[in-house]
Amino acid sequence: MLDAAKRDAEGKLEYTLPPLPYAYDALEPVISKTQLELHHDKHHVAYVAGLNKTLAAIDAAARAGDTAAVKALSADLAFHYGGHVLHTLYWPSLKPGGSAPTDNLAAMIERDFGSLENLKKWLSAAAVAVAGSGWAVLAYEPVGQRLVVMQTEIHNNLVGWGMVPLLPVDVWEHAYYLDYQNRRADYVAKLMDIVDWQAVGARLAAAQK
Ligand code: MN
Repeated sequence: MLDAAKRDAEGKLEYTLPPLPYAYDALEPVISKTQLELHHDKHHVAYVAGLNKTLAAIDAAARAGDTAAVKALSADLAFHYGGHVLHTLYWPSLKPGGSAPTDNLAAMIERDFGSLENLKKWLSAAAVAVAGSGWAVLAYEPVGQRLVVMQTEIHNNLVGWGMVPLLPVDVWEHAYYLDYQNRRADYVAKLMDIVDWQAVGARLAAAQK
């Protein structure tokens, strides 16, 4: 998936940090080089490491028959996996100058939110309103076959089964604090200008297949 996992010759799975699809300073002035570098190279990478470590711990516990370890390991797995997946989707959702939605994405935004401006308003409000660390996510909801805006606390709480994340908006302080300090709303507003809606549309098309 998205250059974020691999299997070695023995078939052992390892999650990997995907490279940024642009230079560290490409998103300036919305996101500074230092902010992006820290976020990708220190924070995202920590979730990848945590995920691999948790998988190894689960493997060891299973071999040892240590079922008492299940609760802690399950929580760690959900947290690090959520962090890895959402960051992996966050980087290629952004692009210098952004892009406009077309085709099915444009039609579904119109149907489900009235307009792109309304969707941005709703997504931004959800992002600003996250209590503490978390994400606002534009997702595809496969049962009703519609677009929804949802919130996720930390990386994995409040997740609905089957929802496919299309556009995650990171509102952990580590995503914006160097550039915006406590002004989360300013960061979210500026971020809306660099969303690559074409990439979001490609994700929607894959989810609908
Ligand atoms: Mn983050």
